[in-house]
Amino acid sequence: MKIVVIGGGPGALYFAISAKVRDAGHDITVIERDPPGATYGWGVVYWDDLLDALYGNDAESARELRGASVLWQQQEVRLRGETAFYPGFGYSVGRAALLEILGRRAANLGVRIRYEENVDDLSGFRDADLIVAADGAGSRFRQQDEHFGTKLTNGSNPYIWLGTDRVFAKFLFDFRETPAGWVWCHAYPSSSGTSTFIVECQERTWNALGFGAMCRDDSTSVLEEIFSDVLKGRPLISESRGQPARWLRFTEVFNERWYHDNVVLLGDAAHTTHFTIGSGTRLAILDGIALAHSIFERADSLPHALDLYERRQRKPMYQTQAVARSSMAWYEHVDLYTDRDEVAFAAAMAARQGPLPPWCHQLHLLEQLAPVRAAHRCYETGRRFYLARRRGEPVRYSSFPGPRPSGAPAGTRPGARPRTGDLPAPEARSVAV
Ligand SMILES: Cc1cc2nc3c(=O)[nH]c(=O)nc-3n(C[C@H](O)[C@H](O)[C@H](O)COP(=O)(O)OP(=O)(O)OC[C@H]3O[C@@H](n4cnc5c(N)ncnc54)[C@H](O)[C@@H]3O)c2cc1C
Repeated sequence: MKIVVIGGGPGALYFAISAKVRDAGHDITVIERDPPGATYGWGVVYWDDLLDALYGNDAESARELRGASVLWQQQEVRLRGETAFYPGFGYSVGRAALLEILGRRAANLGVRIRYEENVDDLSGFRDADLIVAADGAGSRFRQQDEHFGTKLTNGSNPYIWLGTDRVFAKFLFDFRETPAGWVWCHAYPSSSGTSTFIVECQERTWNALGFGAMCRDDSTSVLEEIFSDVLKGRPLISESRGQPARWLRFTEVFNERWYHDNVVLLGDAAHTTHFTIGSGTRLAILDGIALAHSIFERADSLPHALDLYERRQRKPMYQTQAVARSSMAWYEHVDLYTDRDEVAFAAAMAARQGPLPPWCHQLHLLEQLAPVRAAHRCYETGRRFYLARRRGEPVRYSSFPGPRPSGAPAGTRPGARPRTGDLPAPEARSVAV
């Protein structure tokens, strides 16, 4: 099948990999407007469920991705300088490293990637059997076609996605009260000696602090001052993609239909979820697997394959987007909760995606005790070890006596999950970030 993919983000590249590992005969071209290595944003977080899916789909890129990721094992919520602890661990990888790994793997599988080419219209691709619009939240091609039934809704809080070379070991939320109102950061380790530092505040605070009228460097200097102790004097890095980061407002993208004729939406072009549930990259990658698998299963009929893809991915997205909206709304009304102490505040934050059973609150109170945190961490380490072994992650063939099963990719443990159509559902996660 001749396939053209617009956009070279994680969703596009992972779709290309997934289609090629299922059928090497596909002729796939990915077209990206930016040069290689240039991307917006910093680290993205993910969890074991994504690693399970990646190992089951393409162990080679999964191993590289895991190798480029860092693990964080605790979340701290600070309010007025007081710390509450929140259980949770996850992985984080720099967006640039992620794209580099996926781009290299796709190229090795025979995918053509054309960088620095901005696609204006689809008229040049009339000979393509399938066009995948993976061109992000502001998808030009989705906007040109009313068949998708697109609805865009803007959030109200301004945010800015920055980096820093201050390396955080944990995931930190720090809420600062300024004379203009509350300002907070979401900070977590990324990779190669950098951390991600997202700053968010309410619109009236943003206006009162004068960010709208400031040049970008001044904005960064004011934030460095507000968070000087957290940053321990290290600077914030604004530059990514060769340009300074901008203050943005989140846009929720919703589409009633995900394909029209031979054009199909994937990743942020199809749906967005607020960054406080840390899922957009994961969902784009899962879309990529689902689309490739649907094409593989219904190789006889492209319309049926696209219909299968849409049915698999679109409905579960309603719930995920609802959870993400609740999370976004919590931050938009954060000042309703800041009169509490830090432990009660962190508990409210944990429940922002929906009600939690009462035992979760008891667990949260216990988590404030150091020995409980240590025990919890031991349990999570054991669980992670089990999951890693189950998907064949840390154990090399040299550790196993006997020959490698035929057809198994190098480094995959015997009995590891095969490549499968049993995709994890794109549901929301119940985590603090
Ligand atoms: C502050 C913030 C933090 C986030 N944190 C996380 C996180 O922790 N975990 C997580 O899973 N997700 C996170 N996300 C979400 C994640 O970044 C996106 O959901 C993800 O990048 C979507 O991937 P995509 O491939 O669909 O689109 P994108 O990554 O946006 O890629 C689209 C690509 O298309 C290219 N393009 C666009 N138009 C054209 C054109 N006309 N021609 C050629 N190329 C074009 C663009 O240059 C871009 O490279 C975060 C998002 C934000 C804003």
